[in-house]
Amino acid sequence: MSALQLFFGAVPVPYTASWTGEDDFFLARCRYAAGQVAICQKESRGSGKPLFGKPHMTRQREVISKGLCDLCGRTLKNSTKVSLSHARPQAKGARALDILQVEPLLHHLCAAISARHCPSLKRDIAQGAIQIRQVTRHQVQIALMDEIAAMEFTGIAHPGAAGHAKVQLLAWKDRDLAWLTGGEG
Ligand SMILES: [Zn+2]
Repeated sequence: MSALQLFFGAVPVPYTASWTGEDDFFLARCRYAAGQVAICQKESRGSGKPLFGKPHMTRQREVISKGLCDLCGRTLKNSTKVSLSHARPQAKGARALDILQVEPLLHHLCAAISARHCPSLKRDIAQGAIQIRQVTRHQVQIALMDEIAAMEFTGIAHPGAAGHAKVQLLAWKDRDLAWLTGGEG
């Protein structure tokens, strides 16, 4: 089953964006976190208004663990994979200078659409705060939350629950805006 593209006005809403009608968190075993206890979120995509800056906890893990696109929710298999992320290389990562990002990867076209419709993305790209990368190798990590974070989300101080998934970039090419928007053709 593929995700239906939802819009808010004329703006395409990323598959991973949460909606105001989904403001309820709980602890449960999550198939997108290898079956471990995770911070999960009520799923009612399309109800209320989209929260562009707030990725849905469960869909964010789904997209990253299954290799789906942040915007359209369809598979990235055999597609050019694009990272639009604030993440910088981390010297303390398991491998020096790997990139660890919470933003899911995108199809080339979906990245171009996102850059065209999202004012903050456009501004951050222009200012160099967001890097455009064509990703050739990556792996998935699941962040574990401490009991304070679990308490904030769910009201239960459960240590070690799975939180957001992260994409660890292992190999990529740095790209520019011309390359990104050239993909819209
Ligand atoms: Zn896509």
